[in-house]
Amino acid sequence: MNANFYLAIDATARRLRSKACWIVPGRGAWLYEQLRSETARYARGLTALGVRPGDRLLAQVEKSAESLLLYLACLRAGAVYVPLNTAYTANEVRYFAADCEPRVMLVDGARAQGLRAVAADCRATLLTMDATGAGDWAKHLTDGAAVQSAIDAAVSPRQSGDLAAIVYTSGTTGRAKGAMITHGNLESNARALMTLWACAESDMLLHALPTYHIHGLFVALHCALLAGATLHLLPKFDLDHVLGSLPACTVFMGVPTYYTRLLADTRFSRALLGNMRLFVSGSAPLSPTTFAEFERRSGHRILERYGMSEAGIIASNPYDGERIAGSVGFALPGVSVRVADSHGIELPRGQAGVLEIKGPNLFQGYWRMAEQTAQESRADGYFITGDIATMAEDGRVSIVGRAKDLVISGGLNIYPREIEVEIDRIPGVQESAVIGVPHSDFGEAVVAVVALTQAGAISELQLLQSLMGRLAKFKQPRRAFFVENLPRNAMGKVQKVRLRELYADTFKATS
Ligand code: AMP
Repeated sequence: MNANFYLAIDATARRLRSKACWIVPGRGAWLYEQLRSETARYARGLTALGVRPGDRLLAQVEKSAESLLLYLACLRAGAVYVPLNTAYTANEVRYFAADCEPRVMLVDGARAQGLRAVAADCRATLLTMDATGAGDWAKHLTDGAAVQSAIDAAVSPRQSGDLAAIVYTSGTTGRAKGAMITHGNLESNARALMTLWACAESDMLLHALPTYHIHGLFVALHCALLAGATLHLLPKFDLDHVLGSLPACTVFMGVPTYYTRLLADTRFSRALLGNMRLFVSGSAPLSPTTFAEFERRSGHRILERYGMSEAGIIASNPYDGERIAGSVGFALPGVSVRVADSHGIELPRGQAGVLEIKGPNLFQGYWRMAEQTAQESRADGYFITGDIATMAEDGRVSIVGRAKDLVISGGLNIYPREIEVEIDRIPGVQESAVIGVPHSDFGEAVVAVVALTQAGAISELQLLQSLMGRLAKFKQPRRAFFVENLPRNAMGKVQKVRLRELYADTFKATS
C-alpha cells in the first residue's frame, strides 16, 4: 500500500473537485481540482530538476497559495520539504543548507542574490518564488516541456516511515536540530485532530499563521484539507484583515498573541462571530486571563492544545467537554504521555516532572544527530519533551514550565511558569515573563518582567506584595520591571534569552 500522505488529501480533492480548497483575498479561489492538477504539475517540475524521492527541498518563501502547492507537491513527489522562517539571514540559511543538503532551494526573489553562494556551496539548484508565485519556479513550470502535467501523475510510493519533512527547531541553546517527520506522523496526527475538533466540509478556516512552522503548515492546513473544508488564507496576522475575515469563518487557529491582539481592539465583538464554532490556541501558553477575557468578550472558550515540532499535536482540550484554562487537556487518542522524574520513572499524579511522550505522531529523530536523538529518548521509546507538566487523576495535562527554563535560586528549583500564572492573575496585569538573573548570594534570583493593561495600573511594590501570600518565599520575584510588550517571536513564544540579557545586571551592585 502506498502510505504517501498526499493520497489522503487527494482522496478528498477527488471527491470535491469543484469546491474551493482555499481562498486568497484579492487573488481568488483555488479549487480542489486545481490542487490536484497543480501539485501534479509542480511534482513534475521537481522531477525535471532532478529531485528524487528522499531528496530535500529547502523553502524560504513567503506564505502564498503557490508555496502550499509546492509543499503538497513535495509530498506527492516523495521529496522532503524543509521550511525555513523567512526572517533567517543568509548566514543562518547557510547552516541549514549545509546540514540538510537540499537538491533544490526555493527562495523569495529579494533574497536570491544573497543566497546564490549558499546554494552553490551545497550544489543545490536555486529558484525563486515570490509572494504571488512569480519567479524562476513559475517560469520553469511553463517553459519546460517535461513538466506539462497529466492530472493523474503518479504519486510517489512511500512507506509510512519515509520522511515527508525536516522541521528545524531552535531550542533555547545550541545548534538548531532538524526534526525528521514522516508521512505516517503527518497522517496519524491529521486524522486524530480532524475527528477530535470535528472538522467538516462546512468549515471555513481562517489561516493567518506562518507556514514555516508546524502550526500553520501541518495542523491548520491538514485539518482543513482532509476534512474538505476551505481555508481563508491571509499572508500574515494583520488585525484589520483578521477582523474583516472573521464573519465568514467557522474556525480560527492562532498563537496566544493573536488572541491578546484581538482583545486589545475595541472592534472585536460577538457581532463578528456569527459563524464561528471553534477558536484553537497553541505553540505557547495561553494565559488564564486571556482565556477568561476572551470568553467574556466573545462567548467562546478557547480550545488550548499542546504540541511541538518533534511530535505535532500531543494533547488537546476536548471539543465537547470542559475546556479548562491553564490546562492543555488530554493526550490525543493513540498517544501515550507520562510525567516522569529525571530517570524516566513515572511520578504520582499531581506531581510536576518532565513530560515524556510516545505515539504514531512521534518523529524519527533529529537529522544526522543520532546522539542528540538518543539523549532525548528513553529505552522504551518515549521522547523526553523538555516541558515540565503535571497530570491530574483523570489524565488532564498542564504544562507548568520548560526544563531548560528552570531557575535555580539558593539551590532550589523554580519553574517560572508557576510564578507567571500567579502574576497574570493580578488585576492590571496583561502578561508576564519570569526569568532568573545572576545573583551573588543565590546564584540566580527571580525577576518578573510584566506588561500591564494600562501604564501605571499597579506599582512594583503592589505587585510584589500581591504575590506574598500566594507563593513560597523562595519563588517570589525580588524585582519586577514593567514593559509595554514582552518580546516574542512569530510563534508567540516569549524570547527569554533577550530578557535575561537585558536584566543580567539587575543585582550587579549587590554581587
Ligand atoms: P515548537 O517545536 O516550535 O512547536 O515548540 C514546541 C514548544 O512550544 C513545546 O515544547 C512547549 O514548550 C511550547 N508549547 C506549545 N504549545 C503549548 C501550550 N499550549 N502551552 C504551553 N507551551 C506550549
